[in-house]
Amino acid sequence: MDHIGSLEVITGSMFCGKTDELIRRLRRAKIAKQKVQVFKPKIDNRYAAAKVTSHAGSEFDAAPVDKAADIRAQLADDTTVVAIDEAQFLDPEIVSVVNYLADSGLRVIVAGLDTDFRGEAFGSMPILTAQAEQVDKLHAICMVCGKDASRTQRLVDGKPAHYNDPVVIVGASELYEARCREHHEVPA
Ligand SMILES: [Zn+2]
Repeated sequence: MDHIGSLEVITGSMFCGKTDELIRRLRRAKIAKQKVQVFKPKIDNRYAAAKVTSHAGSEFDAAPVDKAADIRAQLADDTTVVAIDEAQFLDPEIVSVVNYLADSGLRVIVAGLDTDFRGEAFGSMPILTAQAEQVDKLHAICMVCGKDASRTQRLVDGKPAHYNDPVVIVGASELYEARCREHHEVPA
């Protein structure tokens, strides 16, 4: 195989359409007769386990993995396109795995959140974004003002989550909204 490998990153806040864009590219790759493999971290059990599913409802078969090294281990010889969804949840080895794949001539497409609910860089996404040939930062709609949203607002019992709130709060109702910079609130 003499393809030139590359890394594409699709990022942004929750509800910005990352997974829809990922699935759109994967469908086009399949039409082009590319052999596609899709991976996602096991931590994301939002919808059906062996699929990536967008909030808008489109889906694509995916293999859940415990750790980044599993992607390399499960790679088929004839695969030409590798996609990874929710990459912010994978361990730091995802950086070397992704670069190994792209250096080997594969087209690698990574989707994931660029910031967490605090507005801080999330996992390895900033590094992957820096190393990518192509980066698409998508925007959701701010649920307060209707402008472009770049942040994910975490709400616990209807109020903005505090900076130090634990990841899981037992007994609390919790939800996430897209917000712009002005309306993103993280009480200290
Ligand atoms: Zn706003």
